[in-house]
Amino acid sequence: MSRPEVRSKPCAYCGRPFTDRKRWSGRDQWDQVLYCSRGCRAKAAAARRSA
Ligand SMILES: [Zn+2]
Repeated sequence: MSRPEVRSKPCAYCGRPFTDRKRWSGRDQWDQVLYCSRGCRAKAAAARRSA
């Protein structure tokens, strides 16, 4: 009776929703994932620095 939980949230950089993936399907890793891709993560980091 338990349905699979598909987690998703908007990317903190581009705003596009993305879903849980294998590589971050660990216990608490999902909470730490903010970006849909490494590219967005890098861009966000660069934007932070130059801001
Ligand atoms: Zn993104």
